[in-house]
Amino acid sequence: MNLPGRRLGLHSSTNLSSENLKSLINRSLELSRGADPRSFSGRNAILAFFESSTRTKVSFEVAATQLGMVAINFDITGSSLSKGESIKDTAETLASYDPSLFVVRSKESGLSQLFEDWTSVPTINAGDGEHEHPTQAILDLTTLVERFGSLDALEGLQMAIVGDVLHSRVARSLVQLASTCGIEVSFVGPESMMPKYIFPNVVRHSSFEVERYDVLYMLRIQRERFSEGESLEVNKYRSRFSLTKERASHIRRDQVVMHPGPVFPGMEIDAPLIDIDNSLIRRQTEVSIFARMAIIEAVLEGSIDG
Ligand code: ASP
Ligand code: ASP
Repeated sequence: MNLPGRRLGLHSSTNLSSENLKSLINRSLELSRGADPRSFSGRNAILAFFESSTRTKVSFEVAATQLGMVAINFDITGSSLSKGESIKDTAETLASYDPSLFVVRSKESGLSQLFEDWTSVPTINAGDGEHEHPTQAILDLTTLVERFGSLDALEGLQMAIVGDVLHSRVARSLVQLASTCGIEVSFVGPESMMPKYIFPNVVRHSSFEVERYDVLYMLRIQRERFSEGESLEVNKYRSRFSLTKERASHIRRDQVVMHPGPVFPGMEIDAPLIDIDNSLIRRQTEVSIFARMAIIEAVLEGSIDG
């Protein structure tokens, strides 16, 4: 029996052990170099996305398909949720189609864990509200290990997570797993975009000194999550925190630029910079497939502890 709260899938970075993280990164890299994926042919993965997404959904779909699974998209706009069916009823109905896996994205925090509690089907969190986005952090760290050559090489790197940290589930997941890898993280942005609570070991800076960091991790301004009264003076923000051409002219060859996507060129980063040699932004998208394959394998084999 699956006891409520017992983890089968991947819901947050908080509970992911260092061994688990390292083996996921190593397996993602093996797959990216052409290792044979495991085969789960004949098994179904249901992707239940209650919040819009293009890249994450497609990336999970491709990953599941590469593992021989059938990926079924649950299209929320055409569902009976809009006719008043509760989310719990929906989860139970979807579970009756006998999936081996759910992948859930939601505006609410904690929905992936609830899906799993209600149905006993292992579930992967593909982003829940402002809470976490653990698969993004795993793929980001895999991309960094690939670039810097080894896990050990990440030890002591300086990473700036720049911009709207307050509303970012990506930042919340990344800060934990980056620390597990020995990376030293700073939050850089205006005071109004800093989280209200303190993260141990994270330094905050209200000015963006590009030269200080090995990794510049730029965040999208998440206006859709602004509460009433929150606003943004775009020009002021750009002059202080965007990766503009002027600011990028100080980047050294050994520094890298990352972004979880989608990028709004001209806001947090100037368009031509997406493709400079230092940019890992396109590689993050490619690596996302291998990282999600590794995560699905581990979940279906029961070896995840997060
Ligand atoms: N926040 C979404 C994601 O990257 C946006 C998108 O899907 O394009 O998961
Ligand atoms: N794709 C990321 C997310 O889903 C980042 C973003 O949307 O800005 O949280």
